[in-house]
Amino acid sequence: MTPASTCSALILWIRRDLRLCDHPALQAALDAGRAVIPVYILDPETEALGAAHLWRLEQGLAAFAKSLTAVGSRLILRRGPAVQVLQDLLAQTDAKAVFWQRAYDPASVARDTAVKSALKAGGIEARSFDGHLLFEPWDVETKQGGSFRVYSPFWRAVEARTPGPLIPSPSQIPAPAEWPASDDLHSWALSARMRCGASALAAHHEVGEAAALRKLDVFVDMALANYSSDRDFPGKPACSGLSDHLALGEISPRRGWYAAQRAEADTNAAKGALHFRKELVWREFAYHLMWHSPQMLDQNWRSEWDSFPWHDDPDAPALLAWKQGRTGIPLVDAGLREMYVTGRMHNRARMVVASYLTKHMQTHWRQGLEWFADCLTDWDVASNAMGWQWVAGSGPDAAPYFRIFNPVTQQMKFDGDNAYIHRWIAEGQRHPHPDALRYFEAVPRSWTLSPDAPYPAPIVDLAEGRRAALDLYENRSF
Ligand SMILES: Cc1cc2nc3c(=O)[nH]c(=O)nc-3n(C[C@H](O)[C@H](O)[C@H](O)COP(=O)(O)OP(=O)(O)OC[C@H]3O[C@@H](n4cnc5c(N)ncnc54)[C@H](O)[C@@H]3O)c2cc1C
Repeated sequence: MTPASTCSALILWIRRDLRLCDHPALQAALDAGRAVIPVYILDPETEALGAAHLWRLEQGLAAFAKSLTAVGSRLILRRGPAVQVLQDLLAQTDAKAVFWQRAYDPASVARDTAVKSALKAGGIEARSFDGHLLFEPWDVETKQGGSFRVYSPFWRAVEARTPGPLIPSPSQIPAPAEWPASDDLHSWALSARMRCGASALAAHHEVGEAAALRKLDVFVDMALANYSSDRDFPGKPACSGLSDHLALGEISPRRGWYAAQRAEADTNAAKGALHFRKELVWREFAYHLMWHSPQMLDQNWRSEWDSFPWHDDPDAPALLAWKQGRTGIPLVDAGLREMYVTGRMHNRARMVVASYLTKHMQTHWRQGLEWFADCLTDWDVASNAMGWQWVAGSGPDAAPYFRIFNPVTQQMKFDGDNAYIHRWIAEGQRHPHPDALRYFEAVPRSWTLSPDAPYPAPIVDLAEGRRAALDLYENRSF
């Protein structure tokens, strides 16, 4: 290895990889034996992301900057279109190479392709690496060499594979002789759009790589054995809570995969551990679908759904009531309020609120997808689109449209003791849960909501909504 000081520096373009451990691009930078300049770019694409996710990004960047300082490095922050920022940085430093971890959504792919060709044209070494996923989406193929549309065969194709080996964290990252200038994180005001919701979110989040690793350990020790039986109950702390960390790359999916695989050797935990790996593979499946059918992010995966007469008015009063968690259906409202306060929603509740919107309210799944994108701290471009299309019935491996969740039956089955409802619905409770009250502090004042008001009557009668949805489905033109 050549001493770092005698070589030109290397720019490590940080994106959804706010970690030091198991970071292939960072490892390649260290292997190159050069000084490393980690840079995060707030480009227009990132500025357009949802309010809660930007809030979470700000927290994640602050935590990651601290971890870099602990290993003798720094996080340089720059704002602007990626090509221009990188070219400016290259001109301001002696760096001759840029490394980054790959992203797979069409907008990022287009940006990264343009960056790569511009850099290479200027004689700069530009290299991208894996790390966001267990397996690259193009590396998983059917026997005929095609892509998968159904989850089960996708799982069978990867279950026995071994993702790349875990890469340890560096104890030191070589610094350049002189650091380039950096923006101040607070000047970006990434939290601004959350307004009064920001302090509610803060109470529910531990951020950064160390928190993610701790969470994984606690989950494996305390919850993995019962994961299979308990993960569907929104009132139980049965899931890992890792989705925020995975979305921002504060932990690699390989860490979760290998932790679960180790636990599979323990008979008590084997079933839960296998189930957990299967859930990680749902995330992989979402990326696989998006890679092969990028239009799924905003168009029906199955185009025959284009003629379905969805309600699609973004200002419809019923849609506003749904967003506000005021549909009068407790499980639906609890899920939507949980999301507003914490930036997350239990998976069972995500399915129920999505089914209610697309079926009982016959509203286009895109309206729900956009609201989730604005409110979820764990927003993930592929999983969100797959989840919505799966529930709506328009996705490749979707639940059929006529399978309509009854939110009351779902509540009886998965929240029989009302723990979840009690935690999130304040109206009508003698001693409301603090989280249920926090909802009223977090929402915009313009909504004029009060926990003392009566709980709303259902905006849609469940039987009528179901009948209307089935009528539309049976009379559809495809
Ligand atoms: C309509 C809808 C929208 C969704 N939007 C998102 C989203 O924007 N971001 C997101 O990360 N997940 C999304 N999901 C999937 C799922 O609800 C969350 O991943 C899960 O609730 C996160 O909690 P956890 O980390 O405790 O999960 P765990 O049960 O502990 O699972 C571990 C990990 O497996 C992955 N995973 C689990 N279930 C799924 C799934 N159904 N699809 C894809 N990956 C999964 C996640 O990365 C998760 O962190 C959505 C689901 C639906 C139905």
